[in-house]
Amino acid sequence: MGGRGGDSGYKGSSIPEQFYSNGNKSIDDAISYAKGMDGYNSQTAKVFTTLSDTIERLKADGHEVEVEYVDFQNGETASGGYGVGILAAQKEGGTIRAILPDMSKTTDDFKPRAASVMAHELTHLRDLAMAKGHKLGDLTRAEQMLQSKIPSISVDDVPKFVKDSFKHASDEFKAKEKTSKDTFALIDRITGKQRGGDQIHDVYDALTGGKYVNYQSKQSKGAIEWGHGTGYYISKGNRAKELIANYSSLKMFRPDLVRQLRKDQPSLCKSLDQVMRELYG
Ligand SMILES: [Zn+2]
Repeated sequence: MGGRGGDSGYKGSSIPEQFYSNGNKSIDDAISYAKGMDGYNSQTAKVFTTLSDTIERLKADGHEVEVEYVDFQNGETASGGYGVGILAAQKEGGTIRAILPDMSKTTDDFKPRAASVMAHELTHLRDLAMAKGHKLGDLTRAEQMLQSKIPSISVDDVPKFVKDSFKHASDEFKAKEKTSKDTFALIDRITGKQRGGDQIHDVYDALTGGKYVNYQSKQSKGAIEWGHGTGYYISKGNRAKELIANYSSLKMFRPDLVRQLRKDQPSLCKSLDQVMRELYG
């Protein structure tokens, strides 16, 4: 696969050309933002520097990869959903589509968050690439490794640092008593500058099985303000999938939150570190 380096500046690891579809340079912008983060180092940078290898692996496994950039101006996509994600192939082989935030249409407030979402989604792509012979619905090797190591915790065990990381959003939410759809929009607006806050909440949403995310539970006590909820996290595989993507992105964008997560969940973090080695060496 021919690649072009754009402004990424990596020697010998150019970014594959599909990441520059329609001349969009969002990938270079995301890398620039990532480079300004405390957690950016040669290890976490592999989220970007392994992209050529990722695409090669997926091609060798019969997949085409398409990249589409979508509006992230208000933290929401044009299709109405927040998610920018990987649409897995409908059958063996087939097309994998990476839907990523368009950094050029993202206001300055949202750029750090959009870049952290980019890292999250690129980790999902890597997870798929490292699963040879992946079919839709299969767990990848990394997800299988992690699945049995995920603890189930109660909402009372969600530590204070998680609650604090979203405090402002929580207060605003309570004041306005919005419905669930509006809650997403509201939290998006409030947390535009707060990269990673959504991701650490999603980590604890996964650990509590999605039962306490505030838009579906009155018992949340403001503990979990952002996540995927029970419909998604009933699947242990989905818990593994999102923990992997969130952990990878948080390491780069919010190493302070990862340090606190490690104190609270040392054995989970050990397993996640193993998964990171599986994905990135
Ligand atoms: Zn995800």
